[in-house]
Amino acid sequence: MADKPFWQVTALDDMTEEQWESLCDGCGKCCVYKLEGDEGEFYQTDVSCQYFDQQSCRCSQYTNRFTLVPDCIQVTPDAARSFDWLPNTCAYKLLAKGQDLPQWHPLVSGNSESVHLANRSARGKVISEKKASELEEHIIAILIPEDDEADPLSEIEPEPVN
Ligand code: SF4
Ligand code: SF4
Repeated sequence: MADKPFWQVTALDDMTEEQWESLCDGCGKCCVYKLEGDEGEFYQTDVSCQYFDQQSCRCSQYTNRFTLVPDCIQVTPDAARSFDWLPNTCAYKLLAKGQDLPQWHPLVSGNSESVHLANRSARGKVISEKKASELEEHIIAILIPEDDEADPLSEIEPEPVN
């Protein structure tokens, strides 16, 4: 029988840096702004950080991101366990909840585009904060962390990205 993949047999806290980095599915949804309400609830917007590259669906300033955007969040094992606003599809959050990676995750499919083909990414669905009006005017849904199926950006049909 084939060995189980590393994410099924390794605790988040015990992963190597390479394993940890490979878990990111490249959805880009953590680079799309959420707003926190008065009751601690979170709202999804369709506005991305100015450094989010829609074509690659990755940060265009990955090395300097914490200098350029002090609020940029490093996803750590503790963050995966505690940040309600992380997308329900985020690989780190799924594993932190004891779930497996979905079929469309690039590590499972073997195809880095599968996250986009499955309509699980932010590609073609957001506008840059440089072009957006007030974030409050861009709220598209309330986030429901306890509903595994809730994934507001997947409700949007992606537009072609140049
Ligand atoms: S939400 Fe999670 S899986 Fe998606 S890009 Fe961010 S860290 Fe990676
Ligand atoms: S700086 Fe980069 S990683 Fe951080 S939110 Fe902006 S695009 Fe995402």
